[in-house]
Amino acid sequence: MTERYDLLIIGAGLAGSAMATVLAGGGWDVLLVERDGFPRHKVCGEFISPEAQTTLATLGLKQVVAALQPVPIQRALLVTERGLSLPISLPGTAWGMSRYALDAVLATAAQQCGAHLRTETTVLRYEPCASGYTIHLRGREGPDTVQAHALIAAGGRHTLASLPPRARTQRRARQRVGVKGHFAGVAMPAVVELFFFPGGYAGVSPIEDGRVNVCLLADYTAFARAGRQIDQMLAAAASWNPALGRRLEGGSLVPATAVAVAPVDTGRAARPWDEIACLGDAAAMIPPLCGDGMAMALRSAELCAPLANAYLRGELSLAGWAEQYSRSWHREFASRLRTGRTLEWALSRPLLAAGLMRLGQFAPSLVSYLVQATRGKQ
Ligand SMILES: Cc1cc2nc3c(=O)[nH]c(=O)nc-3n(C[C@H](O)[C@H](O)[C@H](O)COP(=O)(O)OP(=O)(O)OC[C@H]3O[C@@H](n4cnc5c(N)ncnc54)[C@H](O)[C@@H]3O)c2cc1C
Repeated sequence: MTERYDLLIIGAGLAGSAMATVLAGGGWDVLLVERDGFPRHKVCGEFISPEAQTTLATLGLKQVVAALQPVPIQRALLVTERGLSLPISLPGTAWGMSRYALDAVLATAAQQCGAHLRTETTVLRYEPCASGYTIHLRGREGPDTVQAHALIAAGGRHTLASLPPRARTQRRARQRVGVKGHFAGVAMPAVVELFFFPGGYAGVSPIEDGRVNVCLLADYTAFARAGRQIDQMLAAAASWNPALGRRLEGGSLVPATAVAVAPVDTGRAARPWDEIACLGDAAAMIPPLCGDGMAMALRSAELCAPLANAYLRGELSLAGWAEQYSRSWHREFASRLRTGRTLEWALSRPLLAAGLMRLGQFAPSLVSYLVQATRGKQ
């Protein structure tokens, strides 16, 4: 017999697990489906902003993350390939914490609230049916079909073409490669550092267990020039920005922590509703240099949860859910997305970046204003 759930969530990243925690905690029968197993490494700068922590606290999840002993970070430093640098005070205390630990603990928290978690299972496609949706899965034991009254997309920036986000770009110039790896033996202050190089930028952040996460975004030309391998790309970035090379001096890549992802398109049009509610990166992706993607993923779940709850209770129509969620999503995120994309565009142009950094050195209040414009409230 076909299994039936109140809600099925595609993807147990931050947005999916947060949503499952709230809805399962509210008494709904929730199935959270994740194509990977936990724990797993993920391409991410692993910088958890103060705003992300605010939402974690609201969702009752801050303590479980704090228990993992993240590294407190209060400052940021931007460094151009020519060595021009700009120190920035963060608007609060951020955390450095691996996605390896973070995503696993949040998925477990969702289970503890009563959500059913199916890992190593991919949602292939869905179709509407009389009672909601018929959803086709493929797991370790082969294909399966389940039904759910409501369905939510939280599969991140890139999933199957049959699922949201469907607004993909064909413009290769806008697509990039994300690469990350953990380093041991790097002397690192409690600062998140951003190093620019021709064709991309790298974020370096201290994380738990004395390690340092190095994560970069590079265009295809830079990736090809580096040799198309993860370790070659990391080494090339360190040679193209000598300050990054000095930062990583004496350090070594921890085996089995290096991962890559492509294509990454931070310019994809925002679509918080695409037949179903889209959370986190499935709705839109803010450029990684803002360090705000995880905060947006968590906050989108916080915005959507009461509406999903009202829909499941029969108090809100699907059209009403779509309309209210889209409106609150755009009110909350549209302007910071625009600012973040403009900043990334400007900082990726060496002359403009140098001009902006010099301006920032003389006008720290302008820098604070720009930083604030890319993020939500604490
Ligand atoms: C290079 C880079 C650096 C970044 N650095 C930072 C940073 O330092 N700080 C920050 O806040 N943000 C950063 N981000 C952004 C951040 O990683 C994302 O915004 C965040 O992970 C979005 O969370 P999510 O839950 O929407 O998606 P994800 O975390 O991507 O989770 C989606 C999940 O869905 C699963 N999935 C996908 N398709 C299916 C399917 N069909 N069936 C089942 N499961 C599926 C995936 O396996 C994944 O686990 C960075 C991004 C990049 C690319």
